[in-house]
Amino acid sequence: MRTSQPQTIYLSDYKVPAYLVDTVDLRFELFEDGARVHSTLAIRRNPDSQESAAPLELDGDSLVLESVALDGTALSDGDYENRGEQLVIRSVPERFSLSVVTWIEPQNNTRLEGLYKSSGMFCTQCEAEGFRCITFFPDRPDVMARFRTRIEADREAYPVLLSNGNDVDRGELDDGRHFVTWEDPFPKPCYLFALVAGDLVEKRDTFTTCSGRDIDLRMYVEPRNAEKCDHAMDSLKRSMRWDEDVYGREYDLDIFMIVAVDDFNMGAMENKGLNIFNSSCVLASQETATDLAFQRIEAIVAHEYFHNWSGNRVTCRDWFQLSLKEGFTVFRDSQFSADMGSPTVKRIEDVTLLRTAQFAEDGGPMAHPVRPASYMEISNFYTLTIYEKGAEVVRMIHTLLGPDLFRKGSDLYFQRHDGQAVTTDDFVRAMEDASGRDLSQFRLWYEQAGTPVLTVSDEFDEGRGVYRLTIEQTIPDTPGQSNKKPQHIPFALGLLGSDGQPLPLRLSGDETEAPTERVLELTEGVHTFEFHGIPSEPVPSLLRHFSAPVRVRYPWTREQMLFLMNHDPDGFNRWDAGQRLAVDVIQRLIGSPDDAAIDPRLVEAYRKLITDTGLDQALVAKMLQLPSEAYLIELAESADVPAIHRARERVLEHLAVALRDELVACYQRQHDSGAYEVTPEAIARRSLRNTALGWLLMINDDEGRALAVRQLNEADNMTDRMGALRALVNSDYEADRRQALDDFYDRFRDDPQVVEQWFSVQAASDRAGQLSDIEQLLVHPAFDWKNPNKIRSVIGSFAGQNLAAFHNPDGSGYRFLADQVCRLDDSNPQIAARLVTPLTRWRKFAPAYSSQMQSALERIRDKEGLSRDVYEVVHKSLAG
Ligand SMILES: [Zn+2]
Repeated sequence: MRTSQPQTIYLSDYKVPAYLVDTVDLRFELFEDGARVHSTLAIRRNPDSQESAAPLELDGDSLVLESVALDGTALSDGDYENRGEQLVIRSVPERFSLSVVTWIEPQNNTRLEGLYKSSGMFCTQCEAEGFRCITFFPDRPDVMARFRTRIEADREAYPVLLSNGNDVDRGELDDGRHFVTWEDPFPKPCYLFALVAGDLVEKRDTFTTCSGRDIDLRMYVEPRNAEKCDHAMDSLKRSMRWDEDVYGREYDLDIFMIVAVDDFNMGAMENKGLNIFNSSCVLASQETATDLAFQRIEAIVAHEYFHNWSGNRVTCRDWFQLSLKEGFTVFRDSQFSADMGSPTVKRIEDVTLLRTAQFAEDGGPMAHPVRPASYMEISNFYTLTIYEKGAEVVRMIHTLLGPDLFRKGSDLYFQRHDGQAVTTDDFVRAMEDASGRDLSQFRLWYEQAGTPVLTVSDEFDEGRGVYRLTIEQTIPDTPGQSNKKPQHIPFALGLLGSDGQPLPLRLSGDETEAPTERVLELTEGVHTFEFHGIPSEPVPSLLRHFSAPVRVRYPWTREQMLFLMNHDPDGFNRWDAGQRLAVDVIQRLIGSPDDAAIDPRLVEAYRKLITDTGLDQALVAKMLQLPSEAYLIELAESADVPAIHRARERVLEHLAVALRDELVACYQRQHDSGAYEVTPEAIARRSLRNTALGWLLMINDDEGRALAVRQLNEADNMTDRMGALRALVNSDYEADRRQALDDFYDRFRDDPQVVEQWFSVQAASDRAGQLSDIEQLLVHPAFDWKNPNKIRSVIGSFAGQNLAAFHNPDGSGYRFLADQVCRLDDSNPQIAARLVTPLTRWRKFAPAYSSQMQSALERIRDKEGLSRDVYEVVHKSLAG
């Protein structure tokens, strides 16, 4: 814990490391009361460093130093300085070997950074700065070394001992102990180091690479989870093949391992050859995981695997470059998911997250560029901006270059920088060099924060057959940045004629046949485009596929929205037109009297969606989801959440009443026959069925209730079981709700991942998740303050999804969250800092709410010994 004000670290202060480490030799002695770490580093001065007389400075955190030796000679106290967070040795030769022995206590490590114990097993999390909690080391990604790791532990308690690379030696020791030695031939930064020791079962498979090498694939899980590995293993093999086919990337070690851990701050971690996963992001079976979980697991397994090249072989020079690996890898995993399922649905899901949560971040106090210029605590920068907006930036390069030149660019990037720690600028330069395109203005996407706004206006000259489109670009101010320069924006569009047919887009000067979709490149504050040969006033289909992460302002009429919903050949924009219509209808109702009319055209549009079986059912399933409360808040100037919640519920209920018979028919029609499958068609069927069920229970329909109870009892998969449970939990059938929750818990009480879903479905519900219910969940025997998943499933779901309850006008939700953040700040500051997020958006809300949110933040700020993680978030939120 700190008493002084945390320091800000600036990108502009970057200097190359004064010392390099060629090899790291580690020996871990693992015991129940602690672990002794012997580290021997081969160090030399960096010839590229200007600081030829710099002392050796190694980072450390919470370490007990037992001894230091230089070239085999023990150093005495006067030869070095142990400052706790740094070990400093003033005088060292050009090249030397340094041996350090430290003692750590993994069993007491509640921060879950470095080496810690979870359910009786040892495991590590070193990104971003966890390795310094294991031993003294230059803990920065541009120091890349070859690691050799020997692990010693009790054989019976810890039969499985794992680290990065290939296992090269193993044997018995005295006192029932044993050891395994691992060697990783690829130089890597210490954040990719991993160690696991435990009593785990092994699942094996193999993969033959494109050059014919056989790779040994292994998953390690607790014995009770042995049957939940197949999906992740299959996903891994699909990812390996896809990365060969699409990016030409072959796996490089002989073994690839995945370990599942229950207590984990993140989703998963791409340690070289030894990926460590949060159990909830890797374990799945038909009975215990929803379709959403199956898809998420496939995506995360792919993401971590793809890091082997985009992150591990080519890594980040410093943490300001985090998006170099994350933005690119999220783009790669989204391409992969699109190829495995429905590209339109995948795009809708990505954009929904981006527009709801990343746009909110970009408009809030923590707004930062994709490549930030400063930070206090790097853990706070694992953000939607770095990941999701970073991926959009790479996607725009892909759009501007086209798939072939993009591939040439990525090949050049991997070849040029293999084994190096580089910057986002190196990535862009490789794309430029391979394509011959100038991306200098495009680089502003990495430097400027904030979501660009495109204001679009149009006019049609009937006499000349000319349609003129004017697009003006502005970028709002963000903390520390104003008067921004126009960015280079790819803007995809089409025009539809009055018969719904796409029109050829002939710009002045076009000779050849014109396409019906074009990508316009916006580089200036204002652009005007003239399309010729347009027979009658067209309906514009703007920003197709969401070709850039921007907001578009255009005065849509409801007729135009309905027209696009029916005719747009771009599935994404078809969905978006429906969302826009629903938003428009809901927004009109906010604060209006309870008998205000709801546009009958919305009902008819939804009736068509539910009844027209000729439409793409996966798209229909998405189109039937009303815009979320979080998205409506994001669109509001001064949000009154309970009013938004009521307006949205009124529209839902109105639709459900009007379409009651169609919903029952849709439910009956979508029933599954045959074996459970996770295909886009089957997922769409279950989604439609569960949406219909949810709507019927919203209006307390007795037939719906009977269907839900039957589905809950007969379901052979978690998607249907959870769909029925959620519908009952969100209904007014209180006795059924209680019964359903109790039965569900009794059935799954021994499965932590399912219990997390059980917590979450209640905490996210405005019926079952009032504050008093949440307080009950926190004292439930299955709740565990040491387990981040449980914390997220109760506190995170309440504050992030149960918005009407969280934003209770009496401020109780805010005070509750502040109390939980303060409580967690001592044990797990990373998780505490992430939980603060809903409060940081206080400026978005109506004054009655924002003032209370501010007080809650002040309450956290005044906590004694606040961690650096929470300090940064709270201070930035309150500033200005
Ligand atoms: Zn990642």
